[in-house]
Amino acid sequence: MKTVNIHLFGIVQGVGFRPFVSRTADSFGIKGTVANKGSYVEIIAQGSESDIAAFEREIKEHPPERAVILGLESIELDDAPVFEGFEIIESEKEYGDIFVSPDIATCDKCRQELFDKGNRRYLHPFINCTQCGPRLTILDAMPYDRVRTSMKKFPMCKECEEEYYSPLSRRYDAQPVCCNECGPQVYIIGEDTKGLAAITKVRRAIMEGKIAAVKGIGGFHLCCDAKNEAAVMRLRELKHRPMKPFAVMMKDIDTARRECIIKPGQEQYLTGWQKPIMLLEKRDSQTICDMIAPDNITVGVMLPYAPVQMLLFDTPDGVDMTDCLVMTSGNARGAPICRDDESAVKEIGSFCDIILSHDRDILIRADDSVCDWLFDKPYMIRRSRGFAPLPFMLKGAEGVQAVSIGGELKNSFCVLKNGMLYLSPYIGDMADVRTVKALEESLSRMTDMLEAQPQAVVCDKHPMYNSVTFAEGYAKDKGLPLIQIQHHYAHILSCMAENGYEGKVIGVSFDGTGYGDDKTVWGGELFVCDMQGYERAGSIKPFVQVGGDLSAKEGWRIAVQLLRAGFDDAQDICKQLSLCDEKTFKLQTAMADNHLNAVKSTSMGRVFDAVSAILGIRLSSTFEGEASTALMYAAELYERAKGDSDTDLPCGYVDNEGVILDTTALVCEIAKRYLAGGDRGELAYGFHLSIAKMIVKGCTALREKHGINTTALSGGVFQNRLLTRLAKEGLEKAGFEVLLHSLVPPNDGGIALGQAAYAAFNR
Ligand code: ZN
Ligand code: ZN
Ligand code: FE
Repeated sequence: MKTVNIHLFGIVQGVGFRPFVSRTADSFGIKGTVANKGSYVEIIAQGSESDIAAFEREIKEHPPERAVILGLESIELDDAPVFEGFEIIESEKEYGDIFVSPDIATCDKCRQELFDKGNRRYLHPFINCTQCGPRLTILDAMPYDRVRTSMKKFPMCKECEEEYYSPLSRRYDAQPVCCNECGPQVYIIGEDTKGLAAITKVRRAIMEGKIAAVKGIGGFHLCCDAKNEAAVMRLRELKHRPMKPFAVMMKDIDTARRECIIKPGQEQYLTGWQKPIMLLEKRDSQTICDMIAPDNITVGVMLPYAPVQMLLFDTPDGVDMTDCLVMTSGNARGAPICRDDESAVKEIGSFCDIILSHDRDILIRADDSVCDWLFDKPYMIRRSRGFAPLPFMLKGAEGVQAVSIGGELKNSFCVLKNGMLYLSPYIGDMADVRTVKALEESLSRMTDMLEAQPQAVVCDKHPMYNSVTFAEGYAKDKGLPLIQIQHHYAHILSCMAENGYEGKVIGVSFDGTGYGDDKTVWGGELFVCDMQGYERAGSIKPFVQVGGDLSAKEGWRIAVQLLRAGFDDAQDICKQLSLCDEKTFKLQTAMADNHLNAVKSTSMGRVFDAVSAILGIRLSSTFEGEASTALMYAAELYERAKGDSDTDLPCGYVDNEGVILDTTALVCEIAKRYLAGGDRGELAYGFHLSIAKMIVKGCTALREKHGINTTALSGGVFQNRLLTRLAKEGLEKAGFEVLLHSLVPPNDGGIALGQAAYAAFNR
């Protein structure tokens, strides 16, 4: 006999969940208790191992219709009393213990009703039910009740009210419930066109090659026909976005199958209730135009998740509609996604020909989430709509409340309360003051909703980050202590927190750039660390990074300095590789030697950019990650054609004060071989494999020294799925346990989680 403590997260409140658990327990002969803990449901289950397993499976797979189970955690209890039967424990709502649901994609039943002529919600652009619809984005305050959402200005009609109050209805207690009679309305900004006429007008405009802005659940999208090259190119021009891939919304899963290769497991996510953008491999026979994701193996695809999007594809008005729409966030460069008419007109009005809006307010922005796929699981790139603010649990963090402010690019923040880490939706790039404002708004809303009373504020150490300035001001206003933690350590903590791991790890933090404790640029770090602190046990070989912000975009600048470190005739080599001419080389050299706008750096991200430049793939990037992603594609295509192959490229390290991975020697050898006629794809692949081997060697050396067998891989460089796979496989072969991210991004979008975890253990 065994006893387990089960925590269930999700929409498990007010949906008849506890009676269901009690009935299910009886049918499996399980004894114990079930209690509503506000933010989760707690079950103590006692029974045979197999009965408990079957009981857990049943709860997870067949919950009551209106419940959504987002997570189940089961921990075995060592010394539990013997239970006589199964009991429901009535608990009063504990102060501030609440659950905030993410927004849920329109369910199949609502979709059917939407296109059912006999239904009273036929073609209603806001149809929803207890199981689907907006949540976080319309929430004003807790508890979640219609008067505290942006639905408060739409009094229910008699029929809707009946459904809302009837426990037999599938709209019982559904806060956003509404219909064609009483609900919000869509309209075209600046015109008197409303309702279905407005939708038809937008469909026509799109098919005429125009660009439309469309208000959805978490903000506006810019949208055009994904098969119309001229429209796509015009959108690129207007948005000043020459190369960065656009996401595509496809009409249904069959369309996605026709355009892309869908791996087992991916379909469930594409069609599920979260509906993120998934990076899918393109088919050669794709009908969407190449310029949507130029030079890319994959394209970001999502299916319609809001009724208005379903109507864009399928309104029966005779318009011959495309089945693939570009759907990119409606924002000005650097600014957060627009959420109201005023900002839409002002900030994206000049990017589009027509704006379809509606009068249900978006109170918290939520961009579309984006995920890749790795080891048969989602691998998050941007965590937002559908996922935020679902909490992560951290044992031992129960007594502390804190907020963490995250990083600078890809900002998100995190609220820690009662052992739960509520990671916010994606906020954006803090270099833009509008994003700082968005952070301020969302933070205040989230702390109010969670009734949090933070005891500390955590942020990065970078003296120039707007997020740090904001955190300082926030801490001062609230009279709270400010804790600043090192950027790359926060990445590793984020990975540990996501995996619920509190022991010691060897952290491999490979990233763009971050502020190091020695005031140099870090980003290729090996740590020996735990939740309490860290030791920098190694890094890649330092190089000179010349040119400040430009060096983050222009990989050739990094390449020049790396080649200078390895070759006497670097100038000639740079010329042969078309990195730069003589004059530019001399200027770069002078700047480096005279320490003008030059810093010591161990940024691994920059080394990837340099190799991309050396192999003639990208000399510079027009968006973050362009050069390194293109390098990864070259390597992946080679691997696919040739199968696994080993590399004899140098992948050594030096060990004096700490482990120094010799990336400079590797890069110089790659340049040499490329000039001697080496194959670009082979060298790109060899580079990835060599870095993975260096990781294994470095971790092995640290394991010998410190006796730690667990590694954690985090930082923006691990968005590179090839490197992540090769590193994990190599580490496991060497006997390591490897912690990877899955639902939290390895990039800066995840560091708020690590910062909050630190507060939990160091307050
Ligand atoms: Zn529904
Ligand atoms: Zn109604
Ligand atoms: Fe970072």
